[in-house]
Amino acid sequence: MKHIVFLSRLTDEAQFLWLEHLNSQLQNQTVLLPDQIPEGEEALVDIAIVSNPNPEDLLRYPNLVLVQSLWAGVEGLVQALKSDVFNKAGFNKTSLDKESFNKASFQLIRLVDPTLAQSMAESVLAWTLYLQRNMPSYAKQQGQKQWRKLQHRDSKDLRISMLGAGKLGLASLSLLQQLNYSLSCWTRSPKVLDGIRHYHGRDGLKAMMEQTDILINLLPLTPNTHHMLNNETLAWLPKGAKLINFSRGAVVNTADLLACLDSGQIEHAVLDVFEQEPLPVESEVWSHPKITVLPHISAPTNKETAAKIVADNIHLYRTENKLLESVDIKLGY
Ligand code: NAP
Repeated sequence: MKHIVFLSRLTDEAQFLWLEHLNSQLQNQTVLLPDQIPEGEEALVDIAIVSNPNPEDLLRYPNLVLVQSLWAGVEGLVQALKSDVFNKAGFNKTSLDKESFNKASFQLIRLVDPTLAQSMAESVLAWTLYLQRNMPSYAKQQGQKQWRKLQHRDSKDLRISMLGAGKLGLASLSLLQQLNYSLSCWTRSPKVLDGIRHYHGRDGLKAMMEQTDILINLLPLTPNTHHMLNNETLAWLPKGAKLINFSRGAVVNTADLLACLDSGQIEHAVLDVFEQEPLPVESEVWSHPKITVLPHISAPTNKETAAKIVADNIHLYRTENKLLESVDIKLGY
């Protein structure tokens, strides 16, 4: 009998809630916490369901085939899999391609949930409207009892550019399309998207950013995207452009962003993610008048839909020995 282990750094209460949801969806299988795995049966664990686990806990289970994340973003785990601890344990995959990695070890599958994508799309729309309708400025004016009408831009004249057009970027673009915005996106590989200008490569990034009123970041954090938004690239935006960062904090160089806000190059930034989370109390980001701080809430995992998706993936593996598309550890997403 194979085992499924649940690994996380959640509170006991949160863990039991997840187990309840997962076990209600699984047929003939029970997800167990590490201390519920019978002693000496670690080698029988072939599946780990993880939610921000301590990566080293994976090393206790030598025969893992499937590591299923309950998160859509798996940047922390991918980073850890390339670290020394995993190298020493025979998980040295940094120089291997995806195929070799997968043959040599388990596959990491992230959560792909249409409910989560819809939630992200709604957040993108909400905060785009917040910026389009000048809400930060009106809130400030109210504080100063100031009656002043600000310039309004119609949706069709507002140039919105999306960095990344994966599961979350595409869902967001499709919702924005319904409001008739002027849309562009930038990805790693070339694409053709109906009604959306597409760019790729460094030159494409510059060309797109030069024609942008609101820049939305939905890129995963990888070695290639780390601090990709910095003094040099943010200067490509027209003066007074706005930024929404909903993917990972370190795609943006925070010090450079603060300088761009102070100089007026960027008029306002809505940030849901930060280089360090929770955002430290001493961070000047908290009180910056041109930043809206959100506590990583743009696309929370829905336990009910996520548990069903995870149970379906496990069923597919158990009954047909098939796995869904896995994360490419070398590419980082
Ligand atoms: P995804 O489906 O893997 O899509 C990633 C997109 O980024 C793809 O379009 C990909 O291009 C592009 N990309 C990756 N590396 C690139 C590079 N070096 N240059 C240009 N484009 C690049 O990811 P997703 O499901 O949309 O999720 C995106 C991120 O959202 C996650 O990684 C996570 O960090 C974040 N997230 C945030 C929250 C929150 O609550 N704030 C919740 C969930 C997820 P190709 O299409 O060419 O491959």
